[in-house]
Amino acid sequence: MKFRAVAEYFEKLEATSKRLEMFKILSELFQNTPEDDIDKLVYLIEERIRPAFEGVEIGMAEKMLEKAIAKATGTELSKVTALYKKKGDQGLAAEELAKKVTAKLVKPKELTLAETYEGFYKTAKISGSGAVDQKVGIIAGLLSRASPIEAKYIARFVIGRLRLGIGDPTIMDSLAQAKEGNRELRPELERAYNLCSDLGLVAKTYFTKGLAAIKKFSVTPGKPIRMALAERLPTAKEIIEKIGKCSVEAKYDGFRIQAHKIGDKVSLFSRNLENMTSMLPDVAESIKKYVRAKDAILEGEALVYNEDTGELMPFQITITRKRKYDIASKKVELPLKMFVFDLLYADGKDYTSEPYSERIRAIEKYVKTGEALEYANRIITDDPKVMQKFFDESVTAGLEGVMAKRLDAPYSAGARNFNWIKLKRSYRAELSDTVDVVIIGYIKGRGMRTKFGIGAVLGAVYNDKKDVFESICKIGTGFSEENWVKIRKLLDEIKVSHQPARVDSELKPDVWVEPKYVLEITADEITLSPMHTAGKTNKDDSGYALRFPRVKGFIREDKKPEDATTVKEIEKMFKQQKNVGSASSES
Ligand code: ATP
Repeated sequence: MKFRAVAEYFEKLEATSKRLEMFKILSELFQNTPEDDIDKLVYLIEERIRPAFEGVEIGMAEKMLEKAIAKATGTELSKVTALYKKKGDQGLAAEELAKKVTAKLVKPKELTLAETYEGFYKTAKISGSGAVDQKVGIIAGLLSRASPIEAKYIARFVIGRLRLGIGDPTIMDSLAQAKEGNRELRPELERAYNLCSDLGLVAKTYFTKGLAAIKKFSVTPGKPIRMALAERLPTAKEIIEKIGKCSVEAKYDGFRIQAHKIGDKVSLFSRNLENMTSMLPDVAESIKKYVRAKDAILEGEALVYNEDTGELMPFQITITRKRKYDIASKKVELPLKMFVFDLLYADGKDYTSEPYSERIRAIEKYVKTGEALEYANRIITDDPKVMQKFFDESVTAGLEGVMAKRLDAPYSAGARNFNWIKLKRSYRAELSDTVDVVIIGYIKGRGMRTKFGIGAVLGAVYNDKKDVFESICKIGTGFSEENWVKIRKLLDEIKVSHQPARVDSELKPDVWVEPKYVLEITADEITLSPMHTAGKTNKDDSGYALRFPRVKGFIREDKKPEDATTVKEIEKMFKQQKNVGSASSES
């Protein structure tokens, strides 16, 4: 497939702000894509080169791209920089310069999608001395063969600014539409995706081997499974009413870890499927030593632990283990303990469809405790009073609360449902849980905030059914002065000229941004407001809003925009609100 055809579709996608139209264009593009190219195209649309968990990054800064454009088009670097400054978009600068060149030259051989992708892949794989020049050389090679429209998208991709704004659900809908003429198969594709976190692989399997292969898809050690998530209920009584006898576990506040062991090789993935193996060598070592299966996948929460006192350290301390340098000394100073709470695979057996009670047994069979490995503390009960007591003890021990888990439920990869229910400590005049919102824009500072150029951010929750972000609050409280400056800088890097296609908001901020950053928010309550679109079905209805929202911490790097709180969850929290405060015996 010619890359030019892809670029032309990208241009059409960029021009639309309607999701339905986006879906139609994408379906048509997939229909015209040969099966050998489909995985590469899916990665590019996801704005990456390989699935996220492989961490393959192109590693080119703006200046390097400018050098590549200069080299490819025979333009002085200072002129490329000046043109970029004028246009405010590297892609447009590359496009314009390519126009001048193509007008003069004999036509070079047209780029294919495979060659372009290969170029990106090679660029990403180069490291060590001389890497900068080599990377610039490869991208310049691509640009020198690119037509103006291709140059625009190559340049944007290279510096991570493709910004097509297409989510994975829309990609899956469009793949199904392209092959079957309707979206009914999306759940099958989603299931496969949840088991491997690699949408390119799913697309390739679907296009080359068909639906039967998708239906047979199972877990593979080394490919992270998208993590199961928990619903919330405000009281132990309601949890027992909902799921009956269950496993009640301590809810640890550290890093969620999914560990994959293949022989002697251990890989550790975060909640966001980022590879954290090199940061947590103590956990990897213990898994190698204490897991009694050649190949296995297990899950747990890792946090800093004081062996002498048995004390669990707060998240603020655990997070300091997330670092690229001084890993060895921190490992001694702040040792980790991973509390194992699930087992998903062992020696050829896929446990994801087994009931939780079986998986608990498998943990005991395959995982021995020692050094950084421990079992999660749990009781099994059908008595709300017993659960409440366990909850109170956990909170006293400095934990966040408890997780109740249905004993007969399979592992719901990538889904949030009542198979797992969290019961968190709550305070008066606060929601029983925090809300994770995606920033969709900001309002320029007035009064005291004029100097920061930002006074509030507009937050949205995720409507996973429609694959859009719906506004829920304006947040102007909770940031330090330093963080206002930081957030403004980060947002300016992702600002867009018009409301993004996947954003639904009646409030118009001064600056729209690509939905990218997630903030953890606490608020007094959920109210109804005609100003916000969260959960709004009719234009004249009210949407959900947050009363007195305030930021907790800073951007949540472990969450993607699609991991933000969903409209469905807000709806449930709204209904539960009357019970706030009764979960915990403290107030
Ligand atoms: P979510 O991960 O559900 O989007 P969140 O990141 O805000 O939400 P919480 O809702 O507070 O986190 O709780 C869910 C997290 O609790 C899990 O992702 C996991 O990291 C952690 N956790 C701690 N203990 C357990 C346990 N025993 N079982 C499952 N998860 C646990």
